[in-house]
Amino acid sequence: MFGSHLSIAGSMVNALVEAEGLGMECVQVFTKNQQQWKAKPLDDGMVREWHAKVKALGWDRGGPDGRGGLVSHASYLINLASCKDDLWAKSVDLMQDEIERCEALAIPYLVHHPGSFVGADLATGMNRIIDAYAELFSRTKGYRTVSCLEGTVGAGSTIGGRFEELADLRARIADQTGQGGRLAFCLDTCHMHAAGYDLSTRAQGEAVIAEFDRVCGLSHLGVLHCNDSKGKAGSKLDRHEHIGEGWIGGTVKPHAGKGTYTPARLRDSGFAAWMAHPAMINVPKILETPKVNDAKGKPYDLINLRRLRMLAGV
Ligand SMILES: [Zn+2]
Ligand SMILES: [Zn+2]
Repeated sequence: MFGSHLSIAGSMVNALVEAEGLGMECVQVFTKNQQQWKAKPLDDGMVREWHAKVKALGWDRGGPDGRGGLVSHASYLINLASCKDDLWAKSVDLMQDEIERCEALAIPYLVHHPGSFVGADLATGMNRIIDAYAELFSRTKGYRTVSCLEGTVGAGSTIGGRFEELADLRARIADQTGQGGRLAFCLDTCHMHAAGYDLSTRAQGEAVIAEFDRVCGLSHLGVLHCNDSKGKAGSKLDRHEHIGEGWIGGTVKPHAGKGTYTPARLRDSGFAAWMAHPAMINVPKILETPKVNDAKGKPYDLINLRRLRMLAGV
């Protein structure tokens, strides 16, 4: 199933309507203004309207868990790895709000970045995340929303650039809370490539899938973010490019700033390996590429979607 991160401006239901208009099967949203610590509670009428539209679209069915492929992305303000007590406590409170909003909206997947251990070390940061989840899962016991630890480019003190870190977090949180079923992973093709998991050829893409399966387990992949990369493999640059126009699937001339799209090059890129893999069929595959139109005024989401679907053979 394919979707995109779309805007909830006006009303949350607008993202569903826009995704439907673009011919998608799912959507990713923020359930609140992602730049604010405090959010107004969800409006009851808006929640009812959301459920009615989701049901009408049939987007409460299918997907990895049979509950559809709707995805929420948590606020970037949240840092569960923080060693500063006040920021950590605020982050846990906001993450609780994110989980509760997903539960109210029956959104099965909540994606978030594991966090940054700035001012401390990796081991301390990992422990802080595990403590945060112990608190979160006890405050929200029995909730159905699955939180997905997102792989990052691993720049600086950011956690999640290595599959081993993601696997370790999930295993230890499952151990600590006994609620491991509420935790999965989200991968991002741009992040993997920039983190050093080179996806620029189909063979390398297949090797990265095998590596993720070995370390984390493909069955624990909840969401896949589909973005090409403005940075080379290992650049640690988190900048998303249109599919087939970056260093993963395009032909990029150094200093040209942008890659050239050709179907043949894209078919030999790591995108082909990921899109054609049978384990990906039911995984929500979400575009987070720039929301612009081409010269003819066509939304680039439609163009990126067509390129991914070509590779998936759907
Ligand atoms: Zn992403
Ligand atoms: Zn990113």
